[in-house]
Amino acid sequence: MAGTAVEGLTLGELETNCWIVSDGRGGPLVVIDPAGEPDVLIEALRGRAVSVVVLTHGHFDHLGAASAVLAATGAPLFVHSADAAAVTNAAANGGLVFGFDAVAPAPDRELEDGDVVAAGALRLEVLHTPGHTPGSICLYDADGGPHLFSGDTLFAGSVGRTDFPGGDAREMRASVGRLAALPAETLVHPGHGPDTTIAREARTNFFWPRA
Ligand SMILES: [Zn+2]
Ligand SMILES: [Zn+2]
Repeated sequence: MAGTAVEGLTLGELETNCWIVSDGRGGPLVVIDPAGEPDVLIEALRGRAVSVVVLTHGHFDHLGAASAVLAATGAPLFVHSADAAAVTNAAANGGLVFGFDAVAPAPDRELEDGDVVAAGALRLEVLHTPGHTPGSICLYDADGGPHLFSGDTLFAGSVGRTDFPGGDAREMRASVGRLAALPAETLVHPGHGPDTTIAREARTNFFWPRA
């Protein structure tokens, strides 16, 4: 049975998960959050075609290898419009606070809710899930999984912090409520920490909406 192929790498000082995703039929790759350690990431790509690099949000710990990966692959960079300005600015992407100066190039395309990132037969739907940052997104693959790449919006047992600049706890509650409507069997690949499922979070996540 055909299904989406998902490879994970944990990269950089904040142990951020980078996801390398394809249609499982030899189609080109989508790289989600090229977090750091460009040599390791480019080696993992092994010369395979990269269709696009997508950031789940504009924080420095999710984009440290973006410039190197774009240069090595020629792929374009996609970021939600509300985080597009932050990625090029180490003051706005949170890096300077932690002593990092990582920036990405200006995005080639600004994403909006409902957009679809396609690569071969892979189709990732953009869910705008603000709260951690104004332009945080999750990428939802209904057909090949279902899979959800949840960035720093949803973690196993928790949700992303809302106390950074641009964070908003009320928006985060609404965003988690939206994810709660996804199929229970959806496999969730977060920006940090282990995978989970929507069903497991519904049972165990303190931040889950209560009926
Ligand atoms: Zn973040
Ligand atoms: Zn992060």
